[in-house]
Amino acid sequence: MESSILGKVSQLVRDIHCCNSCLGRQFGNLLSGLSNAKRGEALKILLLMDWENNYRLLTIDPPDSSSLLSKDFNIGSLSIQRFFPETQPVDLPCDICQDVLSSHKLKTLTTDALKALDEYEFSTFLVGSQFPPSIIDKEDTIRGTYNLEFGESIKSEFNREIGKRLQDQINYALVEFKAPDVVLTFDLINDQIKIKSNPLFILGRYRKFKRGIPQSKWFCRKCHGKGCKYCNFSGKMYQESVEEFISKPILSAAKGRASKFHGSGREDIDARMLGSGRPFVLEISEPKKRNLNFKLLERKINENAAGKVEIEIEGLTNRTKVRELKTRSSRNAKGYRVIISLKTPLKLGESESLSIEDEFSDLLIQQRTPLRVAHRRADKVRSRRINSFRIEKIEPHQLTVYIVCEGGLYVKELISGDEGRTQPNLSERLNITAEVTQLDVIEVFDDKNSL
Ligand SMILES: [Zn+2]
Ligand SMILES: [Zn+2]
Repeated sequence: MESSILGKVSQLVRDIHCCNSCLGRQFGNLLSGLSNAKRGEALKILLLMDWENNYRLLTIDPPDSSSLLSKDFNIGSLSIQRFFPETQPVDLPCDICQDVLSSHKLKTLTTDALKALDEYEFSTFLVGSQFPPSIIDKEDTIRGTYNLEFGESIKSEFNREIGKRLQDQINYALVEFKAPDVVLTFDLINDQIKIKSNPLFILGRYRKFKRGIPQSKWFCRKCHGKGCKYCNFSGKMYQESVEEFISKPILSAAKGRASKFHGSGREDIDARMLGSGRPFVLEISEPKKRNLNFKLLERKINENAAGKVEIEIEGLTNRTKVRELKTRSSRNAKGYRVIISLKTPLKLGESESLSIEDEFSDLLIQQRTPLRVAHRRADKVRSRRINSFRIEKIEPHQLTVYIVCEGGLYVKELISGDEGRTQPNLSERLNITAEVTQLDVIEVFDDKNSL
């Protein structure tokens, strides 16, 4: 087996009609700072010089290789024509790449890609490709046959070459591998360019001033969104939701396909969300616009939802933040103001009141899944801590308390006791049937405003 490069190359170009890129790529991992087309050209030049040297000394036949007469190698036909005037360039596609790597094809694909990208805003991109298996197999076979160890894959050459050409045209955007805004896939099997626009993640906080509005869109329980008599053909259980107030204007501004609302926990439908608000991330899938005017959107949303919901947009974030909201932040402490109605009148002296505050502060509560959600959640015991418990106002039939506790604590059950399923609970402590009549989330504590 021939081991010198020149030996391998002269066999290869005799057997296979290959373009400069495909020849150079077989040695693509040797040297740096030049393209495979340059590598291939250099090798062909060397072979050609070797031939001319021998021709002049020994008057041999023209070289037995169509690769030296390929369309992208004028030097070949021009040089050989000096001795064999009837020599013509060989107008055949490259045996390996079928001319996919020809400068003409790369240029056409770049133009097509720019056209396809026209409606997208992005600042980072990545190029990928799908090649016909026949091309990949052919190259593998050649590598084996000629014992070529330093070749680069055709995909990686193609992606790089197209990436370079695109980069030259799009000077505002950069190639990025980790989290590009858009991924272009050149499907060379079906001759298509596919664009995948990665989602936008928008971080904000919302406040909810009106009771009776759910956090997320709630599909009709009868028709599951199709629209029926029961839901007045809206497909929804509630006409409005925090999610819809926020997502509609943003989705349309971003020209996205769909949106997903991720809240850092959720308040009950009948609870208000006050204070500095609850963090959320709105995910927009397949956005076409990314340079959104958040101030304007914020104003639009707040005007439209006036008196019900108000938001503040902090800016763009990423998927990691969503996971954080779902896990860590959902257990972050929350502050609640709770109005409790008492079945029988309560007399609570100052020292007794102080002692209850003390008992319920820094206390671990064990809660079996509440009866009201038992139909949709597994029956488990959940432990959550109360950080502080303050009695704000005592009236004979009503108590107002301020509770700061770990996220996920069922506050209503902490008060009622939920037929003994929550322990300890306020009802039992007071020995009075107590129910929450109003609940407001006053604060959601996170990194920005911690306890
Ligand atoms: Zn080729
Ligand atoms: Zn319905």
